[in-house]
Amino acid sequence: MGSHKFLNQDNRIFWNFKFNKSTKKMINIVLFGPPGSGKGTQAKILAEKYELKHVSTGDLLRAEVGAETVLGLEAKKYMDAGNLVPDKVVIGMIAGLLEREAGTLKGVIFDGFPRTVAQAEALDELLASHNAPILKVLSLDVSEEELVKRLLERGKDSGRADDQNEGTIRNRLKVYNDSTAPVADFYNTQGKAQLIKGEGDIDDINNLLCQELNAFAA
Ligand code: AMP
Repeated sequence: MGSHKFLNQDNRIFWNFKFNKSTKKMINIVLFGPPGSGKGTQAKILAEKYELKHVSTGDLLRAEVGAETVLGLEAKKYMDAGNLVPDKVVIGMIAGLLEREAGTLKGVIFDGFPRTVAQAEALDELLASHNAPILKVLSLDVSEEELVKRLLERGKDSGRADDQNEGTIRNRLKVYNDSTAPVADFYNTQGKAQLIKGEGDIDDINNLLCQELNAFAA
């Protein structure tokens, strides 16, 4: 535990040197929205354009499931039913990732995280310890009808159990409305949330997101 703490401090010193001393701040953005709103698609494009790390908790969890780790086997039950994996599991994954990589990154695009207010609070704390807060939360706005249509379409070739039937999809949307939508209010209170039209052409939506990001990437 002692050496763990020491390593933590070391990372912070490195980060301060790399970013603060060159007056660059980490560009940490949350891409927010319901399942099927296009977060993954847009995050990939933005991460490449702005040289940010794309962190999708869904992808990280699916990798654990694929590798049949203990964490993956535990998470699978929740994921297949369209429920949220417990906060402490997901927060632990993000804490580990930031501890290992924050010092080397220009910034992060979080996709599918945070999904509860408890996760948002934990992320603020983690990022405070790296002196690198969330700068903006870009929230993709898509109608429920369009979301169901997109997810059923994706299910035809995504191989994802949670995209396969309308019952599971409807449950994911309910979980979003009950547990995740309040995260937007959390960031609204901080003056960081921005609603973005998430329907239409992928490039047009991307342009809207870039207009927001350009303010930080200049
Ligand atoms: P996604 O790929 O973002 O749609 O996530 C797929 C599934 O992984 C979700 O339905 C949840 O079961 C789980 N998951 C992903 N991210 C989180 C998170 N931040 N908190 C809890 N569960 C998550």
